[in-house]
Amino acid sequence: MVGMERCVHELRQVAGIGVVACGECQTVDWWDTRGLVEPTAALQRLFGDLELEGTLPGLAAPAPEVLVYRADARKARRVLDVFPKRVWLRAHPGLWMSHDGERLLLAPVDRNLVSKLGA
Ligand SMILES: [Zn+2]
Repeated sequence: MVGMERCVHELRQVAGIGVVACGECQTVDWWDTRGLVEPTAALQRLFGDLELEGTLPGLAAPAPEVLVYRADARKARRVLDVFPKRVWLRAHPGLWMSHDGERLLLAPVDRNLVSKLGA
């Protein structure tokens, strides 16, 4: 099991949220001082102010369409930095995310989720 050896489950703090994101298991856990945070709330807090740049067909993505958000501000880049780059992570049961340091990609399995995020 190559994956097991490469697992890194490190709690990293950003913008008041504790994030444990692992590119090997493709999972994300969201924490605050009281315990686990509901993923929608965490996503909204971290990514709610990003600007939608456009959409892409979901080539090699876990959903049919990918939404692309720009992360121009320093805060936004700091947020992206706590997630492994260029892997799909299951940020929520209905939503996958990925990033390259400058753009956030969201691949919603559940399209209703995107409007809930205010994005
Ligand atoms: Zn892992």
